Amino acid sequence: MARMFIGGELADAVSGETYDVVNPATGEVVDSVPKGNEEDVQRAVDSAHEAFSGWADTAAEARAHLILKGIDLVMAEIDDLSVTLTKEQGKPVSESKREIEHCLHGMAFYAGLASKIRGSYVPLPNNAMYGMVMKQPVGVCGAIVPWNFPTTLMGTKIGPALAAGCTSIVKPASTTPLATVRIVELLNQAGLPKGVLNVVTGPGSVVGEELLRNPKVRRIAFTGESGTGKHVMEVAGGLMKRVTLELGGSDPMIVCEDAFMKGALTGAAVGRFYNCGQACLAVKRVFVLEGVYDEFVEGLVGKAGRLAPGNGMNPKVRMGPMHTAAQREEVESQIKDAVDRGGKVLVGGTRPEGEEYDKGHYLTPAIIVDAPMDSRIATEEVFGPALPVFKVSNFDEAIEKANSSIYGLGASIWTNDLTRARRGAERLQAGNVWVNSLHIGYDEMPFGGVKDSGIGREHGPEALEAYLEPKGVVIATG
Ligand code: NDP
Repeated sequence: MARMFIGGELADAVSGETYDVVNPATGEVVDSVPKGNEEDVQRAVDSAHEAFSGWADTAAEARAHLILKGIDLVMAEIDDLSVTLTKEQGKPVSESKREIEHCLHGMAFYAGLASKIRGSYVPLPNNAMYGMVMKQPVGVCGAIVPWNFPTTLMGTKIGPALAAGCTSIVKPASTTPLATVRIVELLNQAGLPKGVLNVVTGPGSVVGEELLRNPKVRRIAFTGESGTGKHVMEVAGGLMKRVTLELGGSDPMIVCEDAFMKGALTGAAVGRFYNCGQACLAVKRVFVLEGVYDEFVEGLVGKAGRLAPGNGMNPKVRMGPMHTAAQREEVESQIKDAVDRGGKVLVGGTRPEGEEYDKGHYLTPAIIVDAPMDSRIATEEVFGPALPVFKVSNFDEAIEKANSSIYGLGASIWTNDLTRARRGAERLQAGNVWVNSLHIGYDEMPFGGVKDSGIGREHGPEALEAYLEPKGVVIATG
C-alpha cells in the first residue's frame, strides 16, 4: 500500500481507511492509498505551519541545494515512477517519463531562481528617510492537482513554493496519487526539514475542502475544472487567501491559407490527441480559411485514422485510454450532440472492439465537421480525443469565432504573415498565443488563462512572485 507523507514521515489515515487506485487501461487495481480526512489535513497543515519560519529563514542557496538533491533522487527512480504513472493515469510510458522530466525541469528552474529573489531600495521625498521593499514567503500553501498531468502540475506549484521559502501540502487527484506520494517522499529524503513538504490523499470534497478552509493555509494553487475553481476562489476569498487558478480551456487554432500545412497538421493532431486529448492547453477548436479547408481536413482525418489507442504499457502505443468511464461518456455525448445538430464525424469517435479493450476506457480519435457554433462541442471544454473543424471565410471571422468562448487559456495562429500573426496575437482573448507552434507550456514562460480559464500564472519568474509577499519598510535615518 502507498502511504501519505506528513510531518517528515510516511503516514496512514487517522481513520485507517484506504481506497483502491484503478488502471484505466485494464480495470485492474494498481495499489491502494490512505483515504485521508480533515484530521489528516490538519496534521499536515500544523506541521507545515511549524516548519514555516525555519524554512523561510534557511538561506536561499541551501533551499535550492535541497530541491536539486531531491530532483536527483527522483531522477534515479524515473523508470519505475513512469510505469506507476502510466498504470494510474493511462498515458504511454514514454509520455509519463516526459511528464516527470518536465516536472523536474520546472523544479530545477525555481531552484535556480531561489537565490535571485530580491527586493528594492526606494528613495523617498524626505531625504532623511528611505523605503525598502522586502519579498517574504507567503506562508503555508495548498497545492491541489488534477489527474491529467499529476506530477508536472504538482511541480509547478511546489517548485516556486519551496524556492520562495513557503511550506506546502499537496493534494493529488483521487485517481492519480501514486507517483505523487513517492515523489514527495523522495524529495523529503533529500533532507527537507520535517513538515516543509507534505502530501495528503483522499477526496477533494474532504481533503481539498479542508485545505481551502483551514486558516493556517495562506495560499491555494489549484488546477482543475472551472466550476471547482470558482468554488475554490469563493471559499479562499472568504479567508483572504491568495489563489492561483489554472482552469479549463477550449483553445482555438487558426489555420491561414499561407500556413506551412505539414506543420499545421502535426500541430493539430499532436495538440489535440496528446494525453488522449486530456490537456487544458490542447487544441480544441480549429478554424481553417476556406482556401485550404479541404486539404487540411483530408490531412487531419488521415492522421487521426492512423492513431490507434491502446494500453500505455505497450511501447508501440502512442495514445492510451481515457482516464475514467465518466470522461469517455462525456466526450461521446458531446460528439452525439454535434451529430444530432447536423455535424458529421469523418473518422473515429467509437469504442475499439476486442478483448484487450473491453475493460479500458478507449475511444478512437474523432474529427468532426459542420457542427454548429452553438453545439456543445464548440461551446464546452472537450476533454478527450475529439476535434471539431470549422470553415471560415477570412481571418477576422476566425478571430471572432475563436474569441466566442467562455474560455481563454491558449490559442494558436498558423501563418507565414508576421503582421497577421502579431495582429492575431494581440486580438485573441487568451493567456498564451503560439504562432506556428504546438500548444506547449514552457517552464520559462508564464502560463495561465483569462475569462473562465482562471486567474494568475504558473511557470516563469512570474509564478515565483505569487509565492512572495512584498513588504514596504520605511526607515528614518534621523
Ligand atoms: P476537478 O476540478 O474535479 O479536480 C481537480 C482537483 O481538485 C482534484 O485534486 C480534486 O480532487 C480537487 N477537488 C475536487 N473538489 C474539490 C473541492 N471541493 N475543494 C478542493 N479541491 C477539490 O478537475 P479534474 O480532476 O476533472 O481535472 C480536469 C480539469 O482540469 C479540466 O477541466 C482541465 O481543463 C483542467 N485543467 C486545467 C489546467 C490548466 O493549467 N489550466 C491543466 C490541467 C487541467 P478529487 O480528484 O479527489 O476530486
